Amino acid sequence: MKIAILTRNKNLYSSRRLMEAAESRGHEVRVLDVLRCYMNITSDRPSIHYKGEELGEFDAVIPRIGASVTFYGTAVLRQFEMMGVYPLNESVAISRSRDKLRSLQLLSRKGIGLPVSGFANRPDDINDLIKMVGGAPLVIKLLQGTQGIGVVLAETKSAAKSVIESFLGLKASVLVQQFIKEAGGADIRCFVVGEKVVAAMKRQGAEGEFRSNIHRGGSASLVSITAEERKTALRAANTMGLNVCGVDILRAERGPVVMEVNSSPGLEGIETATGKDIAGDVIKFIEKTAKKGKTGTKGGGK
Ligand code: ADP
Ligand code: MG
Repeated sequence: MKIAILTRNKNLYSSRRLMEAAESRGHEVRVLDVLRCYMNITSDRPSIHYKGEELGEFDAVIPRIGASVTFYGTAVLRQFEMMGVYPLNESVAISRSRDKLRSLQLLSRKGIGLPVSGFANRPDDINDLIKMVGGAPLVIKLLQGTQGIGVVLAETKSAAKSVIESFLGLKASVLVQQFIKEAGGADIRCFVVGEKVVAAMKRQGAEGEFRSNIHRGGSASLVSITAEERKTALRAANTMGLNVCGVDILRAERGPVVMEVNSSPGLEGIETATGKDIAGDVIKFIEKTAKKGKTGTKGGGK
């Protein structure tokens, strides 16, 4: 097959591994800088150009679109879809998962375990919002934050109030969420490929840190997950319409709760922690499912 990898940086571990895995399985791979792709949006013959040339046909495209280029990146991916190229994850599903609020709304409709969360616009409603999610301590999140930046733990009600007021004053949208203390600064990353959780790891935040993000100093280790966690991860992936994703779960007293679903999950942490060939699994999944024109919208429908 001819496979395109859409990324900002071909030297990143994940891009390199996907390229290696595809080539070793006999595919022709082209790595494209997503920001250098431009589009001709013409009736009947949509095309993509790259550094002065028109791109030829591809059988599949692997999007690795970073949070900072979501808008342009999903537009380029959509153009591939318009041309009938099979996307590993669809542009609509990526857009859904990039918005924490939209994701939680879709997951809640399916009855998937979630931390109690609230969203409001007016400072007048903050007191009730805090009450709604069970009071302090609570977590406040910027809607489009990533890598742990923009996630704040407010220990007291007055701290929560002033942080929420400041964010709203800056016209930033924030999500207010019940703090799952018993998770102990750890979460479980379930790596989903198709209908399977192919690997899982536990990420533990650095000493004194409630955020488990590797970028914030967290460390990863192998973990075995329960049947309920597995089922939760697969249902979350399905609801978002993502074929390949990282579902982040907190172990709450009442069972697994989904924190977020990542549409471009990194391969380095999970391959190192588990010793598995996840890139190979991704390519095998493409071989099994890719079909020209198979670009219809999956999942949540919103
Ligand atoms: P980001 O997209 O920036 O990674 P997350 O929503 O994943 O934002 O939050 C970052 C980290 O903060 C999580 O990995 C988790 O360890 C911790 N965290 C987030 N929400 C909660 C919560 N409601 N209760 C406990 N810990 C949380
Ligand atoms: Mg996260």
